Amino acid sequence: MLRIALRATAVTIAAIAASVLICGLVLSSLGGRLDGVALWLCILCPLLTAWPVSAVLFSQSARLKAAHRDLARAHAQLAATHRRLAHKARHDDLTGMLNRESFFAVLEGSRRKADRGALLIIDADHFKRINDSYGHLTGDEALLLIAAALKRSLRAGDVLGRIGGEEFCAFLPGADEHEARSIAERVRREVELVRFRPVDERTVPLTVSIGGTMCGQDVGTADLMRSADRRLYEAKHGGRNLAIVDTMPKAA
Ligand code: GH3
Ligand code: MG
Ligand code: MG
Repeated sequence: MLRIALRATAVTIAAIAASVLICGLVLSSLGGRLDGVALWLCILCPLLTAWPVSAVLFSQSARLKAAHRDLARAHAQLAATHRRLAHKARHDDLTGMLNRESFFAVLEGSRRKADRGALLIIDADHFKRINDSYGHLTGDEALLLIAAALKRSLRAGDVLGRIGGEEFCAFLPGADEHEARSIAERVRREVELVRFRPVDERTVPLTVSIGGTMCGQDVGTADLMRSADRRLYEAKHGGRNLAIVDTMPKAA
């Protein structure tokens, strides 16, 4: 408030000075002098008009600036909320991995860039037993341990997502058959090495079965998933804790 009054006063003083100067020059050019009533008018007119007008203008400008600041703050909060919600919509709450929908979206994008690669479906073995024996919350902890093992054993550019309850999917861009098999085996082994101790010092084994397929350029994602799923089925029926990677399925 004081700031507005001071600024309005400064403007008024400038207006009075300008008024006195202009009137003085005009009167002297007409052969007269600026004094008496004329001088008082030159001072009073700007005083009575410039001060209230500039005070109103300065206070409106201050209000506008404050509103602008509030708007910018609200905008930043909205943008942060939007980023948080967008991240939440794309990621699985428990593991922080891509959820099913965004995994397949990223997979499509990644396949457009890399003409070679492999797709793995990774399914926790006998996971229902873990829940039945130790409860769902402890089951969640086991899932987190499995998820961490998957992240550790994949390469930096690989795409990993949780596509179902105890089911994960990984796309290995650029991997040839040999690499795909050794990565799948590394994933299987890394999970097997996890030390899961839900109650006492006894370690409860955690294992996954993996079905994989090489990605042909003209093969659709649904066919790749079907092919990897067939290998997963074989791995389950082969005794679990197995990784089976198939060659490229034929284009439909
Ligand atoms: P299989 O080796 O044949 O895959 O046996 P499985 O028991 O893993 O398979 P099944 O499909 O019979 O059971 C999957 C279990 O995974 C049942 C379900 O309760 C559990 N599960 C799915 N999502 C979650 C989760 O988010 N947290 C926990 N704790 N359990 C989950
Ligand atoms: Mg399972
Ligand atoms: Mg399953």
